[in-house]
Amino acid sequence: MQVFDLTPRGYCHGVLNALSIVKKVIKTESYPRPIYVLGQIVHNKKITEAFERFGVISLDQKGKTRLEMLESIDFGTVIFTAHGISDQAIARAKEKGLVTLNATCRDVIKVHVAVKTKLSEGYKVIYIGHRNHPEPEAVLAISKDIYFVEDEKDALLLPKDLIQYPIFVTNQTTLSLYDIDSVLKIIETKYPHYLFDNEICNATTVRQHAVKEQPDVDLMLVVGDALSSNSNKLRDVGMKAKHIPSYLISGIEDIKLDWLHNISSVSVTSGASTPTVITEEVIRFLKQYDQKDPMTWDQKSKLTVEDIL
Ligand code: SF4
Repeated sequence: MQVFDLTPRGYCHGVLNALSIVKKVIKTESYPRPIYVLGQIVHNKKITEAFERFGVISLDQKGKTRLEMLESIDFGTVIFTAHGISDQAIARAKEKGLVTLNATCRDVIKVHVAVKTKLSEGYKVIYIGHRNHPEPEAVLAISKDIYFVEDEKDALLLPKDLIQYPIFVTNQTTLSLYDIDSVLKIIETKYPHYLFDNEICNATTVRQHAVKEQPDVDLMLVVGDALSSNSNKLRDVGMKAKHIPSYLISGIEDIKLDWLHNISSVSVTSGASTPTVITEEVIRFLKQYDQKDPMTWDQKSKLTVEDIL
């Protein structure tokens, strides 16, 4: 079977920065213990589990905001994740006397700055993103004058009287280049004077382009976590823009051998928060896989915690 290793893939600068902050805190005894991460440092369960072995506690309390999650911490060090954090949560952590480190990606900070600037200039802000994702949570905490839109349905429901204001539209950094257009078309019909600032980050853009430009293969596998927005979008681009059967897997253990039956080519990419070793293991498995030889079907990962970190 032909295996296409799509590039670029794997860690972006924001993920590298976030991981290096956690590693630094683990190594530095002067940071008070316990070490908490408010959420998952980056959206990858295997990374979160690997850090847990070093005593890092990732707080992920379903349905709670990061500000609310902070209430369960009374001492120690708190790391804010790459997805961004609200000013209110930063202030609350300081008020509680916690030592804080902020791993927010600089591309996310850029969106916060743009939104704050436009609000101060009198704009109403429309922000396109995913519900229940930490990145929009922090942006929406900036002001009540931000209108959140996830899809065309939300865009159609935007209030008509916004037309009287200057309108600034921006978005979550990890959306699909191919999905955002339909939402923008509706916004344009309602508020033709709108100003749009596309904040899909470069790492997301180049990975999606690589998926779009790949050869016509029988199957595409995206190695990434189910919670990872950019990984999900890579799979969407494969399916919707390229019409390739595409699956999101967290590692070799998630490959269904049925997918590989009677196909001759497969491409592999990975999200920006996926350790390269996991993707390489998937590629090695696919290259040696032989439908007729059960000796090549072993899907047990050989990776250790040290490999992943
Ligand atoms: S995917 Fe983009 S926004 Fe997210 S951490 Fe990476 S570079 Fe930053």
